[in-house]
Amino acid sequence: MLGSFPTPYPDELLYSVVARYHVRSGNKSFRQTHEELFETIELQPDKIVLPNNLNFLVSQLPQGSKITVESLIKRNTLYPFFRTFLTPIEIYSFKNLLREKSSISISKAAKISDKERNKVLKFCPKCHVEDEQKYGEAYWHRQHQIPGMLVCLKHETPLSHSQVFLDNEQIHYYAASQVDLEIKRNTYLEDFIDRSLSLAQEIDWLSHNYVEFRGMTWLRNVYKSLLIERKFITKYSRTKFKYHDQQFADAFLEFYGEDLLGAIQPKILEKLEKYLEYYLLSCDITQTIDRITHVLIIKFLCGSIRDIFT
Ligand SMILES: [Zn+2]
Repeated sequence: MLGSFPTPYPDELLYSVVARYHVRSGNKSFRQTHEELFETIELQPDKIVLPNNLNFLVSQLPQGSKITVESLIKRNTLYPFFRTFLTPIEIYSFKNLLREKSSISISKAAKISDKERNKVLKFCPKCHVEDEQKYGEAYWHRQHQIPGMLVCLKHETPLSHSQVFLDNEQIHYYAASQVDLEIKRNTYLEDFIDRSLSLAQEIDWLSHNYVEFRGMTWLRNVYKSLLIERKFITKYSRTKFKYHDQQFADAFLEFYGEDLLGAIQPKILEKLEKYLEYYLLSCDITQTIDRITHVLIIKFLCGSIRDIFT
């Protein structure tokens, strides 16, 4: 059993809590810290945002600790975001993998797409300063790591990229207070913040409100009716219809702006019309889900994600 373990700060990523533990423990290697807390060194591709074997970690916590497996999953991992667009049965298996020691891929269970993987940990320069003043140290905020989040909801400022890589195959725990955080002063189009903020609010709502998802075939059918309604699909008969891919892509690009789509996922701009067509009309045959693309499509077609889910 551990002598002490840091209490998570509000909306702190578990990785960040462990990084603070690592500093206090005096352990010589990250691997030692990892084994102490997670027993296994099984490396999962998304381990930084979706750690596993939390049952073991909680069993090691000092007596009287208020941290539970459930509280860690819900408040300190990206589980609330990645459970979206999964059916209840898929969520059940996904959540179990976070609790247990298993070599089954969590990323596969959560159907994580490569496109929704951030390359580095992100931070808000204003939160960073405020946290240092309030708590005496900075920490990695969970909300800032959610794919598609380009701005801090609290300060309405663009998030900066750190040098801490998420796709690193090594085990590492870098505390936010210990790494050099360089703040890039990018120039943005005037309404970039407003557009990013509006998207961030949708993603935040989705992560905070559990709505039972009826499956990708249901979603594809919803898309089809909306496309017909908005005249992006022209119906000729009961079985014959034409989807106007270029018109849809042009309207979508105009709605969000190249700067915003490029900041989320530069690659989708290369063949935008084909990419969107695939997500609109074939989303039920893919093995992975690009959640942000679905959020963007739904917001574009419906105005808000709430309207489709509730
Ligand atoms: Zn902030």
